[in-house]
Amino acid sequence: MTENLSAEAVFRDIEENYRQILQNMEAASAQAGIKRETVRFMAVTKTVPPLFVNHALQLGIDLIGENKVQELLEKKPLLNGNFQSHLIGHLQTNKVKKIIREVSMIQSVDSLHLAREISKQAQTAELTMPILLELNIGEEESKSGFMPDGFDEIALQIAQLPNLSVDGVMAVPPICETEKEIRQWFSLVRKRYEDLKKHPALQNMHTLSMGMSSDYTEAILEGANLVRVGSALFGHRRY
Ligand SMILES: *Cc1c(COP(=O)(O)O)cnc(C)c1O
Repeated sequence: MTENLSAEAVFRDIEENYRQILQNMEAASAQAGIKRETVRFMAVTKTVPPLFVNHALQLGIDLIGENKVQELLEKKPLLNGNFQSHLIGHLQTNKVKKIIREVSMIQSVDSLHLAREISKQAQTAELTMPILLELNIGEEESKSGFMPDGFDEIALQIAQLPNLSVDGVMAVPPICETEKEIRQWFSLVRKRYEDLKKHPALQNMHTLSMGMSSDYTEAILEGANLVRVGSALFGHRRY
């Protein structure tokens, strides 16, 4: 996405990238024995100008993800088409109120405190907010998300809160050197997701959000049904 590329050239790149991604998703789904349509594709639009996001939306992409509240609020009114927005980055409790009506899901719920605030604001707005619980599967200090230890207990507490719908789990595993290694992390996340679903209060969960540009095919092979892809679609981010 360099400045000297014409918008047209970027459009062509996005088209070609999307075609390739769909092909890869198709192959991974076939290998996993599922239909590609059962895996939801999210275009991660952080740092991407509205001009290019709109082009992606024209290609039939119907779900976008943003990390930051401010960027989401600024960009959303400039986008055209039928699409949903999810928040996928760490959310401060004091910003919940600003986005409660602007997103159709918050994927990055990483504390009981935050879940309580979303519940409270959802009640005020008279809506039910779908959420995913972010699992810090690698127990990395640098990442947000719940630690694996005690995850079920906290998930059950959150499931009790009014005006929240706990729809599933989101995770960003540690950076890995090999395909085998990343698949092991995804497999662990899947296991925790399946374990949660055994609880009656959480048996209606349906979304396992994992896999990004470098590893969405491995994630699909390990059971992801929502992949979040940024740079493989739009090119490298320029901050
Ligand atoms: C940025 C981001 C992505 C997409 O990353 P790419 O590697 O560019 O595909 C996915 N999920 C989260 C939570 C992100 O912050």
